[in-house]
Amino acid sequence: MDLELLETTLRDAGEPAYRARQVWEWTARGAAGYDVMTNLPRGLRERLALEVPFSTLTVQSEARSRDGTVKTLFHAGDGRAVEAVLMRYRDGRRSVCLSSQSGCPLTCTFCATGTMRFGRNLTTSEVLDQALHFRRLEAIDHVVFMGMGEPMMNLDAVLAACRRLPATGVTHRRTAISTVGWIPGIERLTGAGMPLRLALSLHAADDALRTQLMPVNERYPLADVLAACRAYFEVTRRTVFIEYVMLAGVNDRHEQALALVDVLDPRAFKVNLIPYNPTGAFDGSGRGAIDAFRAVLEEHGLRATVRLTRGADIAAACGQLAAAQPPPVPVPPEAAPVKRERSASTLAT
Ligand code: SAH
Repeated sequence: MDLELLETTLRDAGEPAYRARQVWEWTARGAAGYDVMTNLPRGLRERLALEVPFSTLTVQSEARSRDGTVKTLFHAGDGRAVEAVLMRYRDGRRSVCLSSQSGCPLTCTFCATGTMRFGRNLTTSEVLDQALHFRRLEAIDHVVFMGMGEPMMNLDAVLAACRRLPATGVTHRRTAISTVGWIPGIERLTGAGMPLRLALSLHAADDALRTQLMPVNERYPLADVLAACRAYFEVTRRTVFIEYVMLAGVNDRHEQALALVDVLDPRAFKVNLIPYNPTGAFDGSGRGAIDAFRAVLEEHGLRATVRLTRGADIAAACGQLAAAQPPPVPVPPEAAPVKRERSASTLAT
């Protein structure tokens, strides 16, 4: 729902200021439309239905995975593609993965979104409407900004959406913002005074390899990015999660685990190893290599979990959001659900 349009429409209708709050409260709790908002006069409900579309996004298609994951492709008012994913875990968590941009201007080599043309930043309402869509299906309790786009490049809209999320059931502590290491954004988040989870997509502990995988590293080199994340921890006392996608023969060697140990202070950082979801560019590390890598980190006192892959059969997993429906991706053995569901719990716990 375009919340600005809602406010101006209510003002033009001569309605008291609390009306916007009433509409928002209903919407945040998963109301299906204006007609159920029984504390609003009927005439006003009818007027709103005509003048303020209930969502800024329209559903184009929805795919359901064997594991319960739902991926939805929306179109914004101007036709831009936006994808979001609902992940359902056996322990009852319901986590929504949101997009902050249509497409992505960055060109990380392992990520499908990077191959799509960049569209634009999403508005606050477009970000919120993704979450609200799933809220209408069921209660949600976690949000991760790990869909399309770089949230730190659209931080005003992302933070404005975060401020509204608690009303939908998602507290700041259960909201994670994932970044490539966009330092100005990390610094602003540090000063925002919200106890959000910060996640850094690291993927390599040395500048040369990281630049190869993520060209943005040239602009914001590793040491500076880690210093900014460290400052986030010092100010918020919230552990920063390090995302590390496991690429066979590229970043999964023993000495590369040791290099990670060298650059990460275990008091400030925790590592989340991500099985690579096929996008064509790399081979993912096998289960054995991932477990061995994890063991090295833990032996050196660095906490590490392996992310549970969700929705790979519908190309809804990390890095697979690219709007156009790609051909079905076979689920490789290393992407099969991990047994330790609890310890493999993802970012926002
Ligand atoms: N731009 C932000 C958020 C979007 S990506 C960021 O990069 O952090 C969310 C996570 O998915 C990132 O950690 C990203 O590196 C990871 N990812 C991208 N492509 C992937 C792939 N093919 N397999 C597994 N994870 C991937």
